[in-house]
Amino acid sequence: MSILIKNVLLNSQKRDVLIEGNKIKKISECLDIKADEEINGKGKMILPGLINMHTHSAMTLFRSYADDMPLQKWLEEKIWPAEAKLTSEDVYWGMKLACLEMIKSGTTTFVDNYWFVPAGARATEEMGLRAVLAPPFFDLFDMQKREKAIKQTEEIFQESKNFNSRITFGLAPHSIYTVSEQGLCWIKDFASKYNLFIQIHISETKKEVEECQKKYNKRPIEFLDSLNFLSKNVLAAHSIWFNEAEIDIASKQKISIVYNPSSNMKLSSGIFNYADLKKAEINITLGTDGCSSNNNLDMFEEMKIAALLQKLNNPKNLPAAECLKLASQNGAKFLGLDIGIKEEKIADIILIDLEQSSFTPGHNLISDIVYSANGNCVSEVICDGKILMRNRRVEGEEKILRKSAEAAKNLINKCNSK
Ligand SMILES: [Zn+2]
Repeated sequence: MSILIKNVLLNSQKRDVLIEGNKIKKISECLDIKADEEINGKGKMILPGLINMHTHSAMTLFRSYADDMPLQKWLEEKIWPAEAKLTSEDVYWGMKLACLEMIKSGTTTFVDNYWFVPAGARATEEMGLRAVLAPPFFDLFDMQKREKAIKQTEEIFQESKNFNSRITFGLAPHSIYTVSEQGLCWIKDFASKYNLFIQIHISETKKEVEECQKKYNKRPIEFLDSLNFLSKNVLAAHSIWFNEAEIDIASKQKISIVYNPSSNMKLSSGIFNYADLKKAEINITLGTDGCSSNNNLDMFEEMKIAALLQKLNNPKNLPAAECLKLASQNGAKFLGLDIGIKEEKIADIILIDLEQSSFTPGHNLISDIVYSANGNCVSEVICDGKILMRNRRVEGEEKILRKSAEAAKNLINKCNSK
């Protein structure tokens, strides 16, 4: 399978880009080649696909179900009771909707943790995206629950060997306030045995830090470090309340961090300390979090919010080009994904339609991407060398909207009727 993109804008120059298999084969001023598919790139700009580094995709089902609430109340009274009623079919449709939304807003890879991973994997495979999928791990400090969580994780890990090669199995201990020391140590050992990524929510709220200090006499990152939990395979979501010593540890242990500005603002979690984390040369990436705390998966909007939140005190913080890196290259760095618009790189590509007001007059297209546009500017999406969206059309989108809405409504009805 080959795709030829003609006359597309690459770093302010018009280029032809040839994709063969799942790689970018050739980039040149003019390629006179017959390809299986040809895309007219005139008036469009080419970029690597965006990478959403922290989300709970199938929570699209809970979009606008519970808003304007504090985190703990929101989780305990609304989200966890509804999730207790979820079926794998619900997650399948929630994931289809999430993938559709991500494709339509230029995301080609996402890091996810949510229930019913095999159903999520099936949906992701069908939609053609690349993902790290992890089952959430909770033990609530109870030995029986821990045994059960371990068994489930091991089973899904076995099953994941049959998933498509675009899907990587990962581990996701929920947090230090829902997983015991023993649970965290089991995760760490399992991850190092099989070389797996670990995602964890850490220092999301001030309360979490205070409780950790009370319980373990350490701050969250110090506590995890004392278990030898931290490594370059650890992806820490939120990471808002790090003090100087914790930033030092995070930097030494080479963990990567996910900045989730919309979720942090919506749940009043706090302001991410981008400047100091960057100074410590920590790899900072970007994520939307789930649709119940955002309420969408649009990484273009997330870039804008990410940048603006950092400028509250200093307009020089997080400039546009750096923000775009958070949403692409930095995520790829953690995942070891060789993306970029260069020959021999993986063909995870998006085209942006520049012929609209967001990009006019176009003094600085990178600024326009971050501050002016939203995900609707994406016209074509290619992942792993396959076209997932063309002229903003994704195959089967009407059915996905209908079936996912049905699944979500039935689920909420079940919750309300108890
Ligand atoms: Zn999360």
